[in-house]
Formats: sequence, C-alpha cells, structure tokens
Amino acid sequence: MNSCMLPVFASRALRIGALVALLPCVASATGRLLQVGTLSSLVAGVYDGSMPMDTVQRPDAYGLGTFDKLDGEMLVMNGVVYRVGVDGKVNKPALDSEIPFACVSVMDGVDITEDIGAAASKAEFQDLIKSKLESLNYPALIIVDGDFDMVKTRSVPAQQKPYPALSEVVANGQVVFELGAQKGTIVGTYFPAAFAGINAAGFHFHFMNSERDAGGHVLDLAIKSGTLRIQTLTSVQLILPPVDSAFAQSDLEPTTPVEHVKGE
Ligand SMILES: [Zn+2]
Repeated sequence: MNSCMLPVFASRALRIGALVALLPCVASATGRLLQVGTLSSLVAGVYDGSMPMDTVQRPDAYGLGTFDKLDGEMLVMNGVVYRVGVDGKVNKPALDSEIPFACVSVMDGVDITEDIGAAASKAEFQDLIKSKLESLNYPALIIVDGDFDMVKTRSVPAQQKPYPALSEVVANGQVVFELGAQKGTIVGTYFPAAFAGINAAGFHFHFMNSERDAGGHVLDLAIKSGTLRIQTLTSVQLILPPVDSAFAQSDLEPTTPVEHVKGE
C-alpha cells in the first residue's frame, strides 16, 4: 500500500484531489491499517464474502482474516494470501474470490525490530509482545519469525446458511492442529479496547510454517527464540461491505458486548 494513498470520492474528487496533492508525503515510522469488514459482524455470523480479496492483496502486505462462508483461516505474508483449510492443508486461493473480513498493513515503517527470547505459552508470548509495544493505545501489526517448540492452531469449516454465530462454529466445528516443533512466522494484530467490535481487542495471531504447509489461527504456542517486528498503526482505513450485501441486511444491533469480541 502506498503510504501516500488516500481515498478520493467522486463527488468531491476535484477539491479533495487538489488537497491530497498538497499534503506532504513523508516516510513515517508509523503505519496504516487497511481493513475490510468488521469482527462484530463476523461474530454475529455474517460470513458471506462481499469484498474482493485483492483489496488486501497488496505488495509487501502482512495481515490476517477469513474467507467466504468462514472457509478457513487467512494469513497474508509478503503480499501473498494463504488459506489454511479445515483439512490442515495450505493453498493460495483465487484472488477474484470475495471475503467478509481481513486486515493488512505494509511493513514499511517498522518501529521495532529485535531478537526475542523464549516464551512457554501464548500468555507469556503476549506479555512479551505487550512489553515491546510503543503504546497500548494504538493498533499494531506484529510479525515474529521464530523457532517454536510447539504451535497449536485451528481452522474452521465452511458454513451453511442459516449461518450459526462464530462462538457456535468454534465450539462445534473447529479443527485443532498440534503442529509440534516448527520454524515459521506469526502474523498478529494488537488492538486497544476502544476498537473492540471493529476488530479483536487485544492480540490475535495466525501462524504459517516456513515450509508453507501448515498453520492457522493460534490457540497456543511455545517459542525458543525469534525476531520481532512491530509496526504501530496510527491510521486505519475501514472498508465496509456494499449496501446491498448481507452485512447491510443483517441485524447487528444491539451491539455485540465487548467481552464477546476477543481475539482468543
Ligand atoms: Zn484468527
């Protein structure tokens, strides 16, 4: 994603276009998040893909999300979209498919790159990452290339209408993978509590091994060592599904309680 790129809307294109042209394009030490969809609609069971996947398939992008009908876990790494299916297999889905939810950023303004030591659990790992964040009040993209003692992941199967809520899918349909010792990459997000509902408050991690043949949504992990990169995100672009989509016609009120929208 070009860090100078801003959306320009047709009705005011000329005026705003002129304004954008005047804004300084300064290489920043902070990044921009591009998100399609909201986590609260996913939690409520709005799984229909409604936005093209190539919206988030930007060169050098990293991020995570899911697919049409909730069919697998998405991890975006170095501009490549990977899908981990419920069969445990990894593939690169067709970019002309549509997705309900994803968020990516380009690691063009990395704030922190450093080696990290061991963490025996996901909770310890989160504490470690938390201690490295510049501030808990901004979203952040987190990438860890590491040597893991074990990674426990999951994926979820494609859903049929009427779609059950995400909590039911996880309780009844998730498939867990005990991946054992792995070298690979964690791609994760951190969001402050104020973002709950838009995304997952706290941490949310997906994993892909270095062979690119196993991964998924991280339930637990133990890491020996790794290299941590953090990009603090000071700008968020949120793209909502079109007004004729399932998102528009779904009853998302009353709003999902914050405590139900965690990235665990
Ligand atoms: Zn996930």
